[in-house]
Amino acid sequence: MNYIPEYGVFSFFSLPFIIFLLLKQVHPNSTASSHAEDAILFDMPTSGGEDKSVFVIGGGISGLSAAKYLIQAGCNVTLLEQREIVGGNNDPYLENDEHHATTVIITLPAQQPHYLHLCREYGIEQTPHEFEDLKGSIVFEGRELNTKMGSGIGSFLKLIYREATLKELLDGFIIFWRLYRQFKLRPESSKSVADVLGKRLVNSTVFTHFYMPWVGINTWCRFEDVGRQPAHVFAAFIFEYALAIHIRDKTAKFKEDYWCVLDGRLIHKLRDRLQSSERYTQHMSTKVSDIERNSEGKLTINAEGGRSWECDAVIVTSQPTQALPILDGIAPKRLTHELEKWDQMDCYVLFHTDFSDIGKKPWLHQTHRNENTGKLYITNTIKPRMGDLDAKYLITFVYNTENYLDFIANHMDESTVVKLYEPKLPIFNLDNSVNRNSVWREIDAQCNDVFWTQACRSGLQYHNNGILSAKRVVRRVLGQKW
Ligand SMILES: Cc1cc2nc3c(=O)[nH]c(=O)nc-3n(C[C@H](O)[C@H](O)[C@H](O)COP(=O)(O)OP(=O)(O)OC[C@H]3O[C@@H](n4cnc5c(N)ncnc54)[C@H](O)[C@@H]3O)c2cc1C
Repeated sequence: MNYIPEYGVFSFFSLPFIIFLLLKQVHPNSTASSHAEDAILFDMPTSGGEDKSVFVIGGGISGLSAAKYLIQAGCNVTLLEQREIVGGNNDPYLENDEHHATTVIITLPAQQPHYLHLCREYGIEQTPHEFEDLKGSIVFEGRELNTKMGSGIGSFLKLIYREATLKELLDGFIIFWRLYRQFKLRPESSKSVADVLGKRLVNSTVFTHFYMPWVGINTWCRFEDVGRQPAHVFAAFIFEYALAIHIRDKTAKFKEDYWCVLDGRLIHKLRDRLQSSERYTQHMSTKVSDIERNSEGKLTINAEGGRSWECDAVIVTSQPTQALPILDGIAPKRLTHELEKWDQMDCYVLFHTDFSDIGKKPWLHQTHRNENTGKLYITNTIKPRMGDLDAKYLITFVYNTENYLDFIANHMDESTVVKLYEPKLPIFNLDNSVNRNSVWREIDAQCNDVFWTQACRSGLQYHNNGILSAKRVVRRVLGQKW
């Protein structure tokens, strides 16, 4: 119990003042500072790419936004996508022309400024989730801890206070504080969640049953990743997103600073706008195998099936493990070395109609024990539009094959599964997620005509990070600085 000496000096009456001062503090080299830098909007060039032929590999949000900004600068763009549709991990289920979100469900637009800016440019209105008064649950050792999303930090703490024990409250608060300190008050460092919390707190019920299904599910942190996920990444979800202490894009105040539906509209708008440009070509069902450089220094892109194209520059936008075999030997060593640092996680997204656990709630976070391995795992079941309590479908996220098998065998009626999605997710670790902006600024500066970007390069690998990183790479393709 080492928190008493740390906080014991604070008298009860000075606490609010100290909290106010702390909220104002931010270390210049903290994750909070680099996130603030990432939130700054910058102009994208409207010329400089004339007669330049650029290939974009991958049609997720990163590839589509890279293509958009390249065309805006005058480049001729060809996009190659291995699947028959664009969207990448943003993969909706379509039924009678109706769009049901599957992997991508929610955003706080004020915290995703580059995403918000692009939506505004295309006239895409944000659709709020009307669930301010609805309580979802985190299942907590047989109890249901009911919390509201978007209710603000005060109500959030009040709800927890009502339902948790004193020990859970204390442990929960210490965890909260240590993560806050790591995110905002200290320079970003390669300290894992386990390093920062220590063994006792990592094994506490509040971490296992509250923080993991609430935060871990959103930062792609399984129980086996607690010793390798940087604490600042885990904390970023809490302080940049879930409780959003600072609004990143102040222009969104009162209008777009609430939870909104993140559906396929932006993907579809980008797709349609690109297709209407005469400088744009796309080839679907085209899997790129490698890139070569010929004797004149021109690049050749080779796809499976024997097709190939020449171009001046290429941006690969697929996930690190997918990009590595394509870029090995053609991209700067520093870039491929960085890609080698990423592993991939198997993610299962069950699109189903088993309402037995969630009932009328908008969402349900749970921690289960795998009956075969004996290990803990987390799930999140959610209504794609959380305000719609009569929703027709549910989504459940599960990580790892053995946990997916356990979940369908023991926790749901498998016959209710309408569709199964198996997206892959790049895993954050202590080697690939510390001071990423300086790493990637240097690597991009070393690239001349072969580039890589993907949502995992900065932040929490959400849409904003895909768009921001694509913008930075496009500026480099055009010979400009980030
Ligand atoms: C379960 C889940 C839930 C999520 N929830 C949210 C959320 O609520 N909010 C949010 O903002 N984000 C969410 N995300 C994250 C978001 O979906 C991703 O960050 C985003 O889709 C990544 O986009 P990307 O373009 O960088 O990469 P990807 O989507 O991975 O796109 C890469 C593309 O490259 C293609 N490709 C790969 N290899 C090749 C090749 N050799 N040749 C040609 N094409 C190739 C792939 O087919 C793919 O289309 C979620 C993701 C998952 C999986």
